[in-house]
Amino acid sequence: MTDTRSTCPYCGVGCGVIIESEGAQITGVRGDPEHPANFGRLCTKGSTLHLTASAAVTMQTRLLQPMQRLQRGSAAASVPWAQALDVAADRFARIIADHGPDAVGFYVSGQLLTEDYYVFNKLAKGLIGTNNLDTNSRLCMSSAVAGYKKTLGSDAPPSCYDDFKDAQCLFIVGSNTAWAHPILFRRIEDARRANPAMKIVVIDPRRTDTCEIADLHLAIQPGTDVMLFHGMLHLMLREGWTQPAYIARHTSGFDALERTVRDCTPDQVAKVCGIEPSALIEATRLFANSPSTLSLYCMGMNQSSSGTAKNAALINLHLATAQIGKPGAGPFSLTGQPNAMGGREVGGMANLLSAHRDLANAGHRAEVAALWGVADVPAAPGKTAIEMFQAAADGEIRALWISCTNPAQSMPDQATVRRALERCEFVVVQEAFATTATCAYADLLLPATTWGEKVGTVTNSERRISRVRPAVPAPGAARHDWSAVADFATRLEARLPRRAPGTLFPYTLDDPAGAQAIWNEHRETTRGRDLDITGLSWALLDTAGPQQWPCPEDQATGPATGPATGRSLGKARLYEDGVFATPDGRARFHNAAYQPVAEARDERFPFSLNTGRLRDQWHGMSRTGTLGRLFGHVPEPLVQMNGQDMARLQLGDGDLVQVSSRRGALVLPVRASTEVGPHQSFIAMHWGEEYLSGQSSSGERIAGVNALTLPVFCPDSKQPELKHAAVRILKAELP
Ligand code: SF4
Repeated sequence: MTDTRSTCPYCGVGCGVIIESEGAQITGVRGDPEHPANFGRLCTKGSTLHLTASAAVTMQTRLLQPMQRLQRGSAAASVPWAQALDVAADRFARIIADHGPDAVGFYVSGQLLTEDYYVFNKLAKGLIGTNNLDTNSRLCMSSAVAGYKKTLGSDAPPSCYDDFKDAQCLFIVGSNTAWAHPILFRRIEDARRANPAMKIVVIDPRRTDTCEIADLHLAIQPGTDVMLFHGMLHLMLREGWTQPAYIARHTSGFDALERTVRDCTPDQVAKVCGIEPSALIEATRLFANSPSTLSLYCMGMNQSSSGTAKNAALINLHLATAQIGKPGAGPFSLTGQPNAMGGREVGGMANLLSAHRDLANAGHRAEVAALWGVADVPAAPGKTAIEMFQAAADGEIRALWISCTNPAQSMPDQATVRRALERCEFVVVQEAFATTATCAYADLLLPATTWGEKVGTVTNSERRISRVRPAVPAPGAARHDWSAVADFATRLEARLPRRAPGTLFPYTLDDPAGAQAIWNEHRETTRGRDLDITGLSWALLDTAGPQQWPCPEDQATGPATGPATGRSLGKARLYEDGVFATPDGRARFHNAAYQPVAEARDERFPFSLNTGRLRDQWHGMSRTGTLGRLFGHVPEPLVQMNGQDMARLQLGDGDLVQVSSRRGALVLPVRASTEVGPHQSFIAMHWGEEYLSGQSSSGERIAGVNALTLPVFCPDSKQPELKHAAVRILKAELP
């Protein structure tokens, strides 16, 4: 039996795993006791990874050969890799020649490794000359990115997991940590046990399992976070709970914000947020007056039409009270996916460039062009996730390459997304699993490696970079994403006017050496940047274990022997010196007024719909859906409603109801829940076509909760409002 150290592929906690294998079979998994994220623990999903890996192969849900579909709706036939990639290169080259580089787009995933992301970014922005490269991380973390950049100057979460034990007050906002980041929740429970004086405040419209450890739960009305935070600042000012010396020395823009929050009185906050003024006062007192306050936040803050304003309004509170840059204090966004951070680091989004450079900055574009050896990087903004599929639906984007994600289930407003996929002239889907809804729209299906087979790196929520190592060979003809993309890129390079003297993709394909060369190229782009990782060679990560960034060359000297020694070479906590990543070193207060949700409840659609995760499922279930025991917790789709609403509508547990929005309708069982307040409802995001089908408002067959959600997004982060739609719920009339 062989043990291989790697990383869990599910969530942004980034737990270390040890994969047990015999020959080409993964036989077991256990937590890595030396990994600083989890110290040997794993949650239900992580501890069953080995079972899902073998189930996927035995149930034949893996995609094992490149497959070409000559006609939409027909069966796909297997083709050799060379033929598949030549077909793709021909089609992309023709569309680019006829309609320009912005007629193609790439939609990738926070599940990809950093090396995969890097090659995609270079292909789109360096070789083709389009910024149409976006990711499902847009649905996950882009409001956190924009919030950090607007206030602290850089997309860098300033805190670390070790801060849990030093926090005297923990603010958990829009995060069901107990289910979505279970191992972090265990660490929070440990910290609470070690320090019973620690206060925990949970802010969430739902009373989730996370509330079980809360001293105070503020069940605010959906989308009212900015009003709550402004009201807290109003109170802090009134009570003299701010830190004027810190504000004067380390920040700018406070006066304008002070004027904005003047009207956010406790009575006003109570009315808008639906909470008692006394609860607001208590939460504010704890935040401002605790020796150290740490905020943890996630999708409830991010997936909103005012996601950036929410993030920034919370960070405002940390700046106003000097609750930042010291042990146990600071804003700390939790990453949903395992490598949303790594994707941001390589600039794998439509508005970003390598190493936290901005596409809108001409100097940054010139730096990246020089690093890649291309004449330029185009200035025209790329299409972000929602915009990309809308552009495809409008016929503006004609070819899409989709990797490691399932937009035909995960994107809001499914009817438009599916229309976009149907209208596209050429769709490539690069996937490990043959079962996703998006596969049905592919002209070309390319088999990808997945957990247990992949090689590279990922970055977790606390800026910690871990190695991902293969325990078994790739099954069938599956290839690493970076390798297939670099192979395609080289073929496309030969068909396009030259942008560089030599090849832009000189990597040894299908070989770990190729992935390591990509990593080294990426490291070099970070030299002198805020996330400088020039010190983090793979050799050092192998001997010193996972490391946080920044970790420049002169800071990183590895020990002589391994395996993971737990030596910490990077920076655990940022801004301890009070110098921020802005041009003048001062953090900026962000001044944005409260805006309600985009689609308010009304007489026709009188319920708020919230969406989110279950404890034991992941995304569209392509992996977790192969294992019966992961259905033990929640076996079937259902809509949760408040008991009072159900009584009023004469509904009982298990009754079938029709949930409809302006975009579509679903039929599913209802269940009374004390988790959701009056006029609210909740449906989990995981259930796809085989579990939960419905109809769009124009009669198309669609599936999953995103049949109901809307494509409205935050104007700054372009992150869609997946956490709120107005719906109607009625007893289903069955034929
Ligand atoms: Fe995997 Fe996240 Fe569970 Fe850790 S907490 S084992 S990273 S799913």
